[in-house]
Amino acid sequence: MDVLSISILIRRKHRCSRKFLICDMFYLVRTPWWLRRIYSSLIWRMPASREKVLYLTFDDGPHPVATPFVLDQLQKYRARATFFCIGKNVQEYPQLYNRVLTEGHRTGNHTQNHLNGWKTDDTAYMQNVRDAARHIDTDLFRPPYGRVRFRQAALLRGAPFYYKVIMWDVLSADFDRDLSAGQCANTVIRYGRPGSIVVFHDSEKAFDRVREALPAVLDHFSRLGYRFESIP
Ligand SMILES: [Zn+2]
Repeated sequence: MDVLSISILIRRKHRCSRKFLICDMFYLVRTPWWLRRIYSSLIWRMPASREKVLYLTFDDGPHPVATPFVLDQLQKYRARATFFCIGKNVQEYPQLYNRVLTEGHRTGNHTQNHLNGWKTDDTAYMQNVRDAARHIDTDLFRPPYGRVRFRQAALLRGAPFYYKVIMWDVLSADFDRDLSAGQCANTVIRYGRPGSIVVFHDSEKAFDRVREALPAVLDHFSRLGYRFESIP
């Protein structure tokens, strides 16, 4: 069993269409220390320093509506961020991908087709990573769903890519349609601290929450004297 599957700390119930059946969606809004220690070869937050720096990340783009919105917001606050892109979306929206880079942000590989590492054998997984690498020139990688096996993580970190595998310590949970934008923003405001890596999504699914949560987060941390940087 993979350790990430022991995600019992936060448990949200969802009604399913089938009668009498309750589905559970599990995720952690804050990554616990023991999970970071077990997966210590992955990067969960940037080294703590006295400087107030937050590392905002955006997964699953580029998207024709969400990505321009996010870029405009970042520009307002002179913020830099990191975009973990899906290869097929980069192929579909190359101009948007170029805009991300032109505006000084970094990009990372998020596989070609958003594969779940737990459900994909290592060979197929690495082939999908290679497919995305043809469109995304980077040494940063984030596994879709945060689900990656130890062996896959080792392959990602080895030749020829030598990826830094970037996880997070604060999850906005903007993908959760049961949450309001305010709840997503408050999660980040509550748990964000110097060096935090924060997850948002520039995707269709998350946009209803991101459009309000992101400006609130940028505003809050700017007032506290934070800078926003891309992952080096
Ligand atoms: Zn993703």
